[in-house]
Amino acid sequence: MDSLNIYIDRLKNDEVETLDERIDANFFDIREKELNLEGQVGIKGSAYLTKEHLVLDLAIVADINLPCSICNQVFTLPISINAFTHTVALEEIQGAIYNLRDEIRNAIFLKIPSFSECRKGKCPSREELSKFLKSKNNLPFSDLTL
Ligand SMILES: [Zn+2]
Repeated sequence: MDSLNIYIDRLKNDEVETLDERIDANFFDIREKELNLEGQVGIKGSAYLTKEHLVLDLAIVADINLPCSICNQVFTLPISINAFTHTVALEEIQGAIYNLRDEIRNAIFLKIPSFSECRKGKCPSREELSKFLKSKNNLPFSDLTL
């Protein structure tokens, strides 16, 4: 998709390119088991050059569908990445175009928590789980309410 292309030549006179895009989630192709990206991904930020680098300052918002770590129901987790800064050595950029897709994809992946709970941390199964944990540990005073 062209809107995620950074044209290096356009930045050569100390220009700053401003990004404000909403990209269809399918474009990033994040699908793993029961995990997928939903709706649109919002990307805001800027791109500019230093002597030897392309610098990207980005903020990314996305919605991820994934199963709750407790009850296993799929729910939507909003993800927002503020002030994500990425630098690329200019000599690593083939041609005059740098595409942001992979960087954004990686940034979203890194933000996906290994433990995720539905209903903003109030999973309805949480209580059952803690009962289960208590009985499993077989604490002598587990019936006492403190
Ligand atoms: Zn849950």
